Amino acid sequence: MNVLVVGGAGYIGSHCVRQLIAAGHKPVVLDNLVYGHRAAVPEDTPFYPTNLGNEKEVGKILRKEKIELVMHFAAYAYVGESVTDPLKYYFNNVAATLHLLRCMIGSGVKKFVFSSTCATYGIPEKMPLVETMPQAPINPYGQTKLDVENILKSFAHAYGLSFAAFRYFNAAGAAEDGSIGEHHDPETHLIPLAIDAANGVRPPLQIYGDDYPTPDGTCLRDYVHVDDLSRAHIAVFSKLSTPGAALFYNLGTGTPTSVLEIIAAVEKVTGKPVPRSTGPRRAGDPPALYADSTKAKTELGWTPQFTSIEAIVETAWKWHEANPKGYAKA
Ligand code: UDP
Repeated sequence: MNVLVVGGAGYIGSHCVRQLIAAGHKPVVLDNLVYGHRAAVPEDTPFYPTNLGNEKEVGKILRKEKIELVMHFAAYAYVGESVTDPLKYYFNNVAATLHLLRCMIGSGVKKFVFSSTCATYGIPEKMPLVETMPQAPINPYGQTKLDVENILKSFAHAYGLSFAAFRYFNAAGAAEDGSIGEHHDPETHLIPLAIDAANGVRPPLQIYGDDYPTPDGTCLRDYVHVDDLSRAHIAVFSKLSTPGAALFYNLGTGTPTSVLEIIAAVEKVTGKPVPRSTGPRRAGDPPALYADSTKAKTELGWTPQFTSIEAIVETAWKWHEANPKGYAKA
């Protein structure tokens, strides 16, 4: 299938591009490179550094490349920034998506795969999270993702768009061959920060609170390998042949892992201590978030291949060891 990967130069998008190629599909990447890295996209993959607001150009790409399905990874994802600058988030995550959807409908492209997030659930009352639980985001980032989910539902009903929205838990790890990996600027995620602290290329890791009602006092999260996430995006293709399909899936391993357990895994895998200190809680961090992904397993036959945190951290380490500064600046 000819697939337009919007945000294909970003962390999850670039891994999905590799998985699409491995599965025999033809990805075409659109990425304005605000946060993406050109080097994350294979040289021979068609690449368009276009903004979604440029509907004329996006429409041309859809037609020229005979696109059959669009995957949309392009979003701003800094929770704290979404609180201080919501305009940026609503424009980029919601308005830009509307431009994309309008182009798709205008060009007759009706299959869509959307990167959503467990942040749409807010602070859940129960764990593990199933798709039918209430969604009540506690920050504009989560709200923008929920807004798009709702837009998609109405578009499925009105225009016969078929879509799958994947609610990711904590994407982690890197390609097994070490060719691509995680590089955010600024970096805020636990695993890369812990690895960089062990490597001595960043200051000691700060643990955001150790007084949570969890077994070791630090927050529990569900870390899922980026290639496992990508495989789910491809496994859903056959479901999108039904016009108006509106599908929602949690993607996580279901295993809660604490901040201290991540630090221990990084120390074991790297063979180096992770210098750290304990600080206050980070605003908006729920004590625990982990998925029930039974729906993805049953309906898509999706099974995460990376089931231990050490195996996930090993792939991240391989990337960071070879690229301690991430991608070279273009
Ligand atoms: N965390 C931490 N120190 C850091 C970064 C993250 O203690 O420098 C904790 C954070 O509070 C959360 C977990 O690590 O409990 C995962 O955070 P991350 O930002 O990687 O992902 P999130 O769960 O916020 O999407």
